[in-house]
Amino acid sequence: MIIKILSAESLGARGLSCSIMLKERNILIDPGIALGWSRHGLLPHPFQVSVGTEIRQTIREELGNATDVIFSHYHGDHCPLQDPNPYQLGLDDVKDSLSRCRIWARGRGNASPTQQRRRDELAGLLENRWHEAEGLRQGPLEFSLPVPHGQLGDERGMVMMSRIKEDGATFVHASDIQLLDKTTIALISDWKPDIVLASGPPLYHYSSPSFQIQRDSAWKNALELSDNTGTLIIDHHLLRSEEGIEWLNKLKNAAANRILCAADFMEREPLFLEAWRNELYELVPVPGGWHDDYRDGKTEIERYRTAGWRVLVSTGKIKPCTWYTCCPIKRYTDAGNLERYWIERYCLVSNRRCVRYRMEEEGRYHPDNMLPDGKTREDLF
Ligand code: SF4
Repeated sequence: MIIKILSAESLGARGLSCSIMLKERNILIDPGIALGWSRHGLLPHPFQVSVGTEIRQTIREELGNATDVIFSHYHGDHCPLQDPNPYQLGLDDVKDSLSRCRIWARGRGNASPTQQRRRDELAGLLENRWHEAEGLRQGPLEFSLPVPHGQLGDERGMVMMSRIKEDGATFVHASDIQLLDKTTIALISDWKPDIVLASGPPLYHYSSPSFQIQRDSAWKNALELSDNTGTLIIDHHLLRSEEGIEWLNKLKNAAANRILCAADFMEREPLFLEAWRNELYELVPVPGGWHDDYRDGKTEIERYRTAGWRVLVSTGKIKPCTWYTCCPIKRYTDAGNLERYWIERYCLVSNRRCVRYRMEEEGRYHPDNMLPDGKTREDLF
């Protein structure tokens, strides 16, 4: 089982999308993304927009290879939309890929009218491939009955959790549960998971002391879940604020087992771009009207893309790979012979999954024109 997390707040955008490669299936859970329309009165910074664009592209590519797609619920950061805003994934972009997959989906019950409409739009388009999956078991897949989106009775509805098991390894995707409902935590523990990917509590909404009960309950539930899970990955709502990042660091120290964010699991530096939105605006100012121009296709993001990466490195928010200054991949990129994709995906975020990095650390020979994914490019010399 190979698990790749594609979108999450620690990777730079809202969502909890991941792909799970099994022996005979490629499963994609929650193909969706959003950037948080407004935080502290600010729209997404153009650098966030550039990172979100890359993540959208990755989800599209993964969908092209998927055999099965799971929709845990129908919030705009978890599924493609008929009417996306400029930063979300559009249904038109991915409907051909979706129509080739088996679809395992949450039903209509206990959902807002907006979520029901989105569900109906997807189900109408994919009716031949559509399975209402709540409570179902099929091969390596098992789905929960609806569980609360946060606390029981939360007005944001219910979500469906998934368990995927193969060759003795068990992965659980627990989207948007926020670690607030004890019964949901017990259900995940009963599934005896090796790895859980779950949403943490939305501390950025808990400014009033009246939320102390939710804070205490999420902390206790996280520790209990960690006791029953080899690797617990907590991300999403939690990591939209500096306070959430600190909360997770304290939890890592308090827990008996391994607790990570999505970026830790993917063995790279985190990009907490929503939590850093204020600073991004200070460090890389944006003229008024930029978002309207972007929506109307009258401006582009390239300038903010390079400036954003530069300030994250210069302010120490991310640490590039130790080999970066002498690596030929940097040289090719600086000379304009290689797409920036490679340094942004690997070098600038210290990605330890880089094949060059691993070979370097092991002292094994690798040619200069080998890319971080291990493939060689003959046009690089
Ligand atoms: S290509 Fe790999 S080894 Fe070279 S700087 Fe980038 S991450 Fe490090």
